[in-house]
Amino acid sequence: MQEFMENDSPWLQIFIMSANQFVHKAMDIFISAANRGDLEPRRANAYIKEILHIILFYGQINCPKVDPVDILQGNTDLLLRCFPDVFERCRTHLPTRPPFTVLLDAIVDIVGRRQEQSVLEFLLLQINEMEVPNAGNGLCKNIFVSAVVNFCYFNDEATGLRRENYFGASVTCAGSTQRKIMIDILCYQTWQRDISWAVCIGNRYNRNAFTFPCQVHSMAFNIYTRGESTHGPIARRAPCQKCFIMFPDIEFELRPPEDEHIFWEYGNCAEYESLSQLLNSHPEIASRLHRNRFAIGHEELLTAKYERLEYNLQELQFEYGHEFSFYNSQL
Ligand SMILES: [Zn+2]
Repeated sequence: MQEFMENDSPWLQIFIMSANQFVHKAMDIFISAANRGDLEPRRANAYIKEILHIILFYGQINCPKVDPVDILQGNTDLLLRCFPDVFERCRTHLPTRPPFTVLLDAIVDIVGRRQEQSVLEFLLLQINEMEVPNAGNGLCKNIFVSAVVNFCYFNDEATGLRRENYFGASVTCAGSTQRKIMIDILCYQTWQRDISWAVCIGNRYNRNAFTFPCQVHSMAFNIYTRGESTHGPIARRAPCQKCFIMFPDIEFELRPPEDEHIFWEYGNCAEYESLSQLLNSHPEIASRLHRNRFAIGHEELLTAKYERLEYNLQELQFEYGHEFSFYNSQL
């Protein structure tokens, strides 16, 4: 392994170290939580399988491909015995969400409540040490740790009381094509239908697809690791201009900076995941969205996403067979 890494580019070394650290750190978190009785062993097992699959899949769509044995630094025997399907399916099946989204979801599960302070404190405690050496030049953040997390909630119309929080994280990937692959998977397979539609409409028309029937609030935070900055571990941040366009009626409290240079496409931000969870959990809100009318249909835009996904996977020589299969860690 050492020899393998010494011959690699600094960027590939960071990829391998980040992947290795993320898998092992996540396993430590889930196993400790299961041992404390804060996470059902069955659920811990499913989270470990899902994260292992995503990270090994990222190795398969990396350029050059990175084999599981190189990501895990030879330490594969036990994992291979426990989860043989993960090692097979990372070469054929797609994940449904990024690794940090799984970690955040698991942390909400471990904390056992959706109160923002408890969830964010636990999260920061876990990711504080998720940094990797940066080509002999200090430390850099693990590339699979999201830069931004957010949570959203709505006020119950009947009682005026605030309802529970839903959490999201920005998409983490190594490389721009790989990022497009993950956003297209989220749109095509994972996110609530109206959120996928909004992302497609945003990219096509640069405008919003719908407004909410009730007051939705959203707060976003930049996440820093220890060596990264003097900001402290977490800082409130405004939504980006694109989220502000996409969700004009959400109460963000902060306005996006006017001079922000936006290089990401719609679908990259933490807000989509948390709002997708909110709408999935509250179909009574999803059914009353005020949808704007467009000449183009939902299916047509999703087909374009499917085709871009096919194209990018083929470019990276990922052999998915005749149609996409998605990995299910519950089986
Ligand atoms: Zn945004």
